[in-house]
Amino acid sequence: MDFTIPDHLQDLTQRVRHFIDSEVIPVEQQLQQTGAELTKEQVFALRDKAKAAGIFAPTMPKALGGLGLNIQEWVPILETAGRSLLGPLAIHCAAPDEGNMHTLHTFANPEQVERYLRPLAEGRVFSGFSMTEPPPGAGSDPTMLMTTATRDGDEWVINGLKWYTSNGTIADFLLIMALTDPDKGAHKGSTIFLAPIDTPGITIVRDVPTMGRGDFGGHAEIRYENVRVPHSAILGEQGQGFAIAQARLGPARLTHCMRWLGIAQRAMEIAAEYAGTRHAFGKPLAEHQATAFMLADSAMEIHYARLMIHHAAWLLTNGDQARSETSMTKVVTSEVVNKVIDRAVQICGGTGISRDLPLASWYENARAFRIYDGASEVHRMVTARQIVKKYAAPRQ
Ligand SMILES: Cc1cc2nc3c(=O)[nH]c(=O)nc-3n(C[C@H](O)[C@H](O)[C@H](O)COP(=O)(O)OP(=O)(O)OC[C@H]3O[C@@H](n4cnc5c(N)ncnc54)[C@H](O)[C@@H]3O)c2cc1C
Repeated sequence: MDFTIPDHLQDLTQRVRHFIDSEVIPVEQQLQQTGAELTKEQVFALRDKAKAAGIFAPTMPKALGGLGLNIQEWVPILETAGRSLLGPLAIHCAAPDEGNMHTLHTFANPEQVERYLRPLAEGRVFSGFSMTEPPPGAGSDPTMLMTTATRDGDEWVINGLKWYTSNGTIADFLLIMALTDPDKGAHKGSTIFLAPIDTPGITIVRDVPTMGRGDFGGHAEIRYENVRVPHSAILGEQGQGFAIAQARLGPARLTHCMRWLGIAQRAMEIAAEYAGTRHAFGKPLAEHQATAFMLADSAMEIHYARLMIHHAAWLLTNGDQARSETSMTKVVTSEVVNKVIDRAVQICGGTGISRDLPLASWYENARAFRIYDGASEVHRMVTARQIVKKYAAPRQ
């Protein structure tokens, strides 16, 4: 196997790194110190600079203004952008827009591409993916979907309650998962609809207050009450909702891993710098074995998470759905990221807890990664099921 990163990709990665260091991290530091929230205007200003630098929309094809890279090529770019939580927003590969763009690129018809995907890919609008519902509706188990869409002539009428729709409060349009054929169950009877946010009947109830600062776009609770959309609002086919959601989740999960790996890498670098320069008991912290081992564990874990990401990305690039590989990679990376940040906080002592460093906000924000896009337990359950199916087959 050849692990060489080709020259053009190395060059692009370096340009992204320069942009993150010179344009993004100063904004991150300013927000950190003032406690201010990132504004849409700041995002648009960073996006203009990213466009000028030729590093905008790495996951989109050139025809839509993107860089035209394959999934394997996304890995170093998204990891580098992910060195700051603002980086992916700036170069336009942040969740949930990135996953929605990929989904629309795969399933939208030409009219939907012009109306929804093109402005989204250009970074002028925001989108949300509205699937999760409060109990007793869909959560870890999406087959518990309760939101319905009922046909009325040429229209569909959507009713239901969703929550944790990321970007909900700033979105210009939503992808809404609803049950259209209840007798077929959620697997075959659910459909995704596209609707502008100002469609009558869509009400943002609130942004669910969550752990972590600077979570741009928030996570909204949204009520759908007699929301009328035309039949042409269906993404893909009627009854294809679950399959589309599955097709979205594989790559979307992996891009979360790519971005968060950048944070883990930077957290380790911050910890190493502190440990190498701060003295205690007559020598640098890094020379105390307990600290050195924490750094070594972080380096090893980041390395294996990165290799898993590269492998799953290679499979996806080559047409494999990589369902179990993206699942396993998501569990490993989300747990590695949390451990690495936790160790970095520990190594940096009081400074790790302070807002002088970004570690505190990463610590808060990373926790959700073990829950969204499938909790670790659900991925472990699916992985175990596949192993048992493979190795516990009845003997012939
Ligand atoms: C920051 C954030 C952003 C999100 N963004 C979106 C979004 O944009 N769109 C959207 O639709 N949703 C979004 N979600 C929702 C997310 O996908 C759900 O939180 C996730 O699927 C889990 O569902 P739940 O919260 O209902 O947990 P539940 O289903 O209530 O599960 C709770 C816990 O039960 C355990 N569990 C569940 N099943 C099993 C099992 N089989 N075996 C063992 N343990 C199990 C797990 O530990 C799990 O964490 C977001 C969530 C967060 C926190």
